[in-house]
Amino acid sequence: MQNRVAESYTIMSDFVKKLDKSMTVLKIVKMGDPVLSVKSVPVTDFNDDKLQQRISDMVDTMRHYQGVGLVAPQTGLSQQIVVLEVARNTRYPEAESIALDILINPQITAYSEETEAAWEGCLSLPGLRGRITRSTGISYQAFNAAGEPVTETVYGFHARIIQHEIDHLNGILYPQRLDNLLEFGFEDSLPAFQNLDKDSNI
Ligand SMILES: [Zn+2]
Repeated sequence: MQNRVAESYTIMSDFVKKLDKSMTVLKIVKMGDPVLSVKSVPVTDFNDDKLQQRISDMVDTMRHYQGVGLVAPQTGLSQQIVVLEVARNTRYPEAESIALDILINPQITAYSEETEAAWEGCLSLPGLRGRITRSTGISYQAFNAAGEPVTETVYGFHARIIQHEIDHLNGILYPQRLDNLLEFGFEDSLPAFQNLDKDSNI
């Protein structure tokens, strides 16, 4: 397990080095584009240089736009690739920090019964927020960037991000999960979003 963590860290470090050499910011596809509403295709070839380049470009793009997660379909590629990272994020200033992680072909294997509603945003719906109820904990299985299987159980904001991103891979955007359409709108206009207490994860 430690080796796997170390290997993952090496892979992450390589990404960071690549970032220093050249930044590639991909165009983000917005809601309405059909690529966001279809189930994306699993990755089968982990030795493909194009896959590693795409992951690196997705990390650049997520950081450039200060997202906490990004999926390949949001960059116009219908493949099951997720990148996520939470580090001093101004879009989610109260959130815990989460190290850069790459999930390929992820699947949720268990959901907590306990749920929680919180405000979410999405880089494919710029300026908008919605209050979405999700499980407070999940277990998932996936492959890392080296093609090794991983299983994890995560909670809180981390679990929320992964549920949001895996929804993307199934062609679901967060407005489809709204309980109440009145809890959806522009972040500079929603009174409830302005008055969030400090315990909020957004
Ligand atoms: Zn999103």
